[in-house]
Amino acid sequence: MTGARPCHANRRGCPYRSSSGHPPVRRHGVLLDSDGEPEGGRWNYDRDNRAGWRGKDVPPSRPVLEPDQVTCDVLQLVEQAFPDNPGDLTRFNLAVTAEQADQQLAFFIEHCLDRFGHYQDALAEESDWLYHSLVSMYLNIGLLDPLDTCRQVETAWREGKCTLSAAEGFVRQVLGWREYVRGVYWLYMPDYGDLNSLETDAPLPDWFWSGDIDLRCLQRAIGQSLDLGYAHHIQRLMVIGNFALLTGLAVQEVCEWYLAVYVDAFEWVELPNTLGMALHGDGGLMASKPYAASGKYIQRQGNHCAQCRYRPDRVTGEGACPYNSLYWAFLERHKEGFGNNPRMALALKNWERKPAGEQREILVWASREQDRLVGEA
Ligand SMILES: Cc1cc2nc3c(=O)[nH]c(=O)nc-3n(C[C@H](O)[C@H](O)[C@H](O)COP(=O)(O)OP(=O)(O)OC[C@H]3O[C@@H](n4cnc5c(N)ncnc54)[C@H](O)[C@@H]3O)c2cc1C
Ligand code: SF4
Repeated sequence: MTGARPCHANRRGCPYRSSSGHPPVRRHGVLLDSDGEPEGGRWNYDRDNRAGWRGKDVPPSRPVLEPDQVTCDVLQLVEQAFPDNPGDLTRFNLAVTAEQADQQLAFFIEHCLDRFGHYQDALAEESDWLYHSLVSMYLNIGLLDPLDTCRQVETAWREGKCTLSAAEGFVRQVLGWREYVRGVYWLYMPDYGDLNSLETDAPLPDWFWSGDIDLRCLQRAIGQSLDLGYAHHIQRLMVIGNFALLTGLAVQEVCEWYLAVYVDAFEWVELPNTLGMALHGDGGLMASKPYAASGKYIQRQGNHCAQCRYRPDRVTGEGACPYNSLYWAFLERHKEGFGNNPRMALALKNWERKPAGEQREILVWASREQDRLVGEA
């Protein structure tokens, strides 16, 4: 969620946060001009990078990787040992050597990078990955080097292959967010893993392991997570994570699910993202406000709602998008705790402005939806 992500300038929850400026890009000299200032004059181009998906572009098909003998043997072994586990081995298309990972990165830079930033926050019916890089797993296991990857992206921009906002957006994810997350983990562990500041305890619903749920956005995000071990950031944060946040799913169970399903999942990067960023379980250590959103956000960012049995413009009653009432119920539940957070002031004010009768109706409906989707408390 580039738009609402905490951004620069010495704020808690900022990947560039520092009392001495903007060290990661400064120290490594990425995307700086000859005076050591940010290229283009800004540290952050998020405002150019928030487009929703309207189905007007055609994302490129990804190259098919020919599996070598070892890969085929391992796939067969997995099939035999875990026949009932989720996942679709027929769609396995991951690089297993540094050379293949280099080729995947080269494909991204050539065919996707220019649109990466623009559609970074988008949610699409037509594509599981849009213009994302699909390199997290290679970075995490050492098939790609993070700094070299950023430099290749910078070179692409200098050669006119992509916009500055695309290059800056990508570099900030890797040099900014990825390193920030690593810092949070090593600074605060092992206690960090036990945090549960919102005191959530609802059990993870079984459909997290099948994707069998009729909320279209969730069905798509969970379905591809189980099949491919991949979902992009906004699916992880604003569709699945947001649902878990709004319904108060038990932090540890949600973290275990994320650790189990994604091919790029290692605890140092998964835990702060899930417990901290998605579930606000660290009380704001990682992100200065909870990433809670109603169905309107999901509608704005893509085209799942048009294929859904629910309506994002309805809050209560048959066919109302469950995210809407659950969002208001979440605010009501935590209004005291969030009362001092200036970044939550507007949302809370919008809730408090509603007439008491309407609030009651919403809360009753939310409770019904909570029981139906997650189970009775
Ligand atoms: C709840 C949740 C759980 C997550 N779990 C993981 C995880 O287990 N492993 C993991 O590598 N990433 C995780 N992320 C971060 C991010 O979603 C993935 O790195 C990204 O979706 C991988 O797809 P991509 O390579 O196509 O990324 P792109 O969208 O193309 O981004 C480029 C690169 O930036 C880096 N990056 C972007 N955002 C983050 C971030 N928040 N934290 C760390 N690196 C980031 C990744 O290395 C990624 O490959 C999680 C995010 C959330 C919200
Ligand atoms: S209507 Fe609600 S549940 Fe359905 S796709 Fe839109 S946001 Fe998701």
